Amino acid sequence: DERGRGVGVFEVGRAEEDRRRHRLAAALPAALAAGEFTLQYQPLVRLADGAVIGVEALARWRRLEPRQFIAMAERTGVIHELGRSLLEQAGRAGAARADLRMSVNVSPVQLAAPGLVAAVAGILHRTGMPAERLQLEITETAAVIEHRAVLDRLAALGLRLALDDFGTGYSSLAELASLPFAEVKLAAEFLTAHGEVLRHVVGLCHALGVTVTAEGIESGEQARALREAGCDHGQGYLFGRPRAGLP
Ligand code: C2E
Ligand code: CA
Ligand code: CA
Repeated sequence: DERGRGVGVFEVGRAEEDRRRHRLAAALPAALAAGEFTLQYQPLVRLADGAVIGVEALARWRRLEPRQFIAMAERTGVIHELGRSLLEQAGRAGAARADLRMSVNVSPVQLAAPGLVAAVAGILHRTGMPAERLQLEITETAAVIEHRAVLDRLAALGLRLALDDFGTGYSSLAELASLPFAEVKLAAEFLTAHGEVLRHVVGLCHALGVTVTAEGIESGEQARALREAGCDHGQGYLFGRPRAGLP
C-alpha cells in the first residue's frame, strides 16, 4: 500500500545515504594525501573602526560541507593529520603578513592527542609564523575543561586561545576564568540578545581580561548594537565572506 511503499523508499534513501557517507569517510585519507583540503580566510574586524585585524581560516573540501567532513574526520581519527595540515597551511599563509592575526580552528578531539603541543611548536618553527599572531579556536564543549593541561601548554607557547561558540551552553564563567583563554567568540545566537544582556556578557569577559568577538554579523544594525555593548571584534558577511586569499 501507499504507506508501506513510502517507508520503503525512505529506507532505501537512508541506506543509500549511509553508503555515500561511508564512501566519503573512507576517502578522507586519500583526499588529504592528494592535497584536496584547502583553507579560505574570513576577515576579523575591529568594531570601533572597521579595521581588518586578522582572519579566521576555514577548511574547505569540494565534496562536502565543513561541518560534515570535520565530524567525519573526528570519528575516523583523520582529524589529527588533517588538523596539522591545515595549521601548516595557515601558518605559511600568515607568516608573511605581520598585520594579521591568523585564527585557526582546532577540534576538541585534537586536544586529546599526545603529540599536539609538539606538532604546533614544530609548525610555528617550520612556517616562521610568530606564536603571538596565531590564535587557536576551540569549540566550547563539555570536554574543554578536561584538557586544562594541554591548553596551558599551548598558551605557554605564546599563542592565543579562543573559546569558540561561547554561550551555547557548557562552560560557566567560573570555568572560563580558570582556563587560559584570551578571547571568546560569541555564538551567532547572541545577535538576538537584548542589548543589556550583551553589555553584561561583554563586561564580564572584559573583567576576566578576555576580548570578545561576535560572529555571524550580517547587518549594520547588528554591528552597531555589538559596538555599543562594548564588543571588541566582529566577523560576518557584512565585513566579508570566506575567500581563498588573504584580505
Ligand atoms: P565556526 O568555527 O563557528 O565558523 C564560522 C562559520 O560561520 C563558518 O562556516 C563561516 O563560513 C560561517 N559564517 C561566517 N560569517 C557568517 C555570516 O555572516 N552568516 C552566516 N550565516 N554564516 C557565517 P563554515 O566555513 O561552513 O564552517 C562551519 C564549521 O566547521 C565551523 O564553525 C567550525 O566549527 C568547523 N570548521 C571549519 N573549518 C575547520 C577547521 O579547519 N578545523 C576544524 N576543527 N573545524 C573547522
Ligand atoms: Ca571558529
Ligand atoms: Ca564559531
